Amino acid sequence: MLDPLVYLNGEMTPLSEAKIPVLDRGFIFGDGVYEVIPMYARRLFRAKQHMARLFRSLNAVGIHNPHTEAEWMALIGKVASAHPADDQLIYMQVTRGVAKRAHAFPEGVAPTVFIMTNPFVPPAAELCENGIACATMEDKRWLRCDIKSISLLGNVLAAQYAVEHNAMETIQFRDGYLTEGSSSNVWVCKDGTLMAPPKDALILEGIRYGLIEELCETAGIPFQARRMTREEVLAADEVLISSAGRELLPVVRIDDRPIGNGKPGPVFHKLHAGYQEAKKA
Ligand code: PMP
Repeated sequence: MLDPLVYLNGEMTPLSEAKIPVLDRGFIFGDGVYEVIPMYARRLFRAKQHMARLFRSLNAVGIHNPHTEAEWMALIGKVASAHPADDQLIYMQVTRGVAKRAHAFPEGVAPTVFIMTNPFVPPAAELCENGIACATMEDKRWLRCDIKSISLLGNVLAAQYAVEHNAMETIQFRDGYLTEGSSSNVWVCKDGTLMAPPKDALILEGIRYGLIEELCETAGIPFQARRMTREEVLAADEVLISSAGRELLPVVRIDDRPIGNGKPGPVFHKLHAGYQEAKKA
């Protein structure tokens, strides 16, 4: 089996040999942030936006950013070029580092930096043709979902809920209002207008959020950011999810109720075509 080279604190090492001390605050507290960047045909997709979000996450939790953007890009390039796949999903994680276990920030500790990559396999064409099923649950996560934190227990529980309910994703609602999927942003289409929850602290602003806004503009699809109730979501003509790994997928069933006519709709098809074009640009 392929044992790709990864980057850990200044060294390139096979994934199977990369080790961190048990007192790493990522392990002890989930005290860290991460980022996932797609690479298509050996070119990073929306790297600037992903790096800006990494820097925002680090800043929001007060972890020292150990590298300039140019240094980060060079490190990502090293890991990516060591892997044989032309399409990859690059994973980067920074934790607050290794220190005696105590909650408050330690002093004089260097962050732990880890970068790995995996071949990127886009979602099966069948999912785009037939759509996916989603489950729903109350959003039980903290109130800083805008930070791409490695503390993902709420998201893990939501993802497992989907698995146990024959669904591909769990769509979350907080106090009756749509937030996001367990690892995706959620889009709702009604009467030709595409809508998504506002970019606030209750959701992660996906890098695809900005991309889809641009695709709407190009395709002449009106877009509105606003809060939406569960009833509005269930009564939508179309529902979509987006993420780096799933790109853009149509949701045709939510909690065993059909969305629209139960088939992927015209807005999905337009945006999906735009997405595939953007990958090549
Ligand atoms: N929300 C959550 C909770 C996520 O985990 C993700 C995937 N990273 C997204 C939204 C979508 O973000 P992106 O488009 O950058 O993948």
